[in-house]
Amino acid sequence: MEIKIEKTTNPKQKPDASSVVFGKEFTDHMFIMDYSKEKGWYAPRIVPFSNLSLNPASAVFHYGTEVFEGLKAYYTPSGKAQLFRPEENIKRLNNSAERLALPQLDEQFALEALKKFVSIEKEWIPKKFGTSLYIRPFLFASEPALGLHSIDEAMFVIIASPVGNYYKEGINPVSIMIEDEDVRAVRGGTGYAKCGGNYAASNRAGEKAEKKGFSQVLWLDGVERKYIEEVGSMNVMFKIDGKIITPKLTGSVLPGITRKSCIQILKGWGYDVQERLISVDEIGEAMKNGKLEEAWGTGTAAVVSPIGLLQYKDTNYSINNGKIGEITKKLYDELTSIQWGNKEDKYNWCAQID
Ligand SMILES: *Cc1c(COP(=O)(O)O)cnc(C)c1O
Repeated sequence: MEIKIEKTTNPKQKPDASSVVFGKEFTDHMFIMDYSKEKGWYAPRIVPFSNLSLNPASAVFHYGTEVFEGLKAYYTPSGKAQLFRPEENIKRLNNSAERLALPQLDEQFALEALKKFVSIEKEWIPKKFGTSLYIRPFLFASEPALGLHSIDEAMFVIIASPVGNYYKEGINPVSIMIEDEDVRAVRGGTGYAKCGGNYAASNRAGEKAEKKGFSQVLWLDGVERKYIEEVGSMNVMFKIDGKIITPKLTGSVLPGITRKSCIQILKGWGYDVQERLISVDEIGEAMKNGKLEEAWGTGTAAVVSPIGLLQYKDTNYSINNGKIGEITKKLYDELTSIQWGNKEDKYNWCAQID
């Protein structure tokens, strides 16, 4: 399929990356492709960024049939633009789509479309270390019918937004509230899919946490509310007594690409990394005995985010005296130097943009 390109005649003023608010300003173009049951995917195009026109009966508005991805384009000091493991995002988008019975993408074509789109928006990638172009591919059911049946029409869209340094004022550890009422996902549900619905289910607890002054929620499993799952939009890792422990992918945890990359780096450094069930009691015990040495979240937005305080059942536990831990810092430095091209990409994770 050939991607039709219609360039804007009215390019926008590019914002200063040091002052942009995450996800509010978008580049000049967007990628769109339509799907129908008869035709399959058709009419891939890169067009000026604009509103989408959708029938109010479109399934996405009523039944939440939407999946998405998030990745970044980075500028290296040698002036090259690159993506970090983009094929992983496309693969996960297809896995998410499969769970919601949305149509599958041809992964090779989707990757090509993504790269083409980013290459057209290359000038929008901010150049300073720590800044990047956040890319949001999403796929949803667009057919105008309220009846519940298989999905006959869908759209795949890619938009992008320049982002400043997540850690403008240095890497400050975050405070996290362990949520013991609401749950985000259950096994057999959509937890492993990156879908809007999971975020809808998370909103209430997120607001509660924000009101109490916490930055995010740490989720427990949906059945027993006993096992740690993940933090807001990040996976979570703990260093207990020298070992690294992270919740295993049970089906209700989002399989993060940053998580996967961190595990590979940590193993390469010789750490004992355990992917297993971790109960909140085990964390509580470790906190009481002073064996919880470090805790951090992993995700594309913040890369690695140190956790300085955990609250569980109204008790606050400080971790590493509220300071960033040694491994947390080392991981952050390693990943960001690969992503921003300050270090040799020995894992072959980066994909160049022409
Ligand atoms: C996207 C996401 C993550 C992090 O995934 P990355 O691929 O590392 O960005 C973790 N948890 C949830 C719920 C997410 O949506």
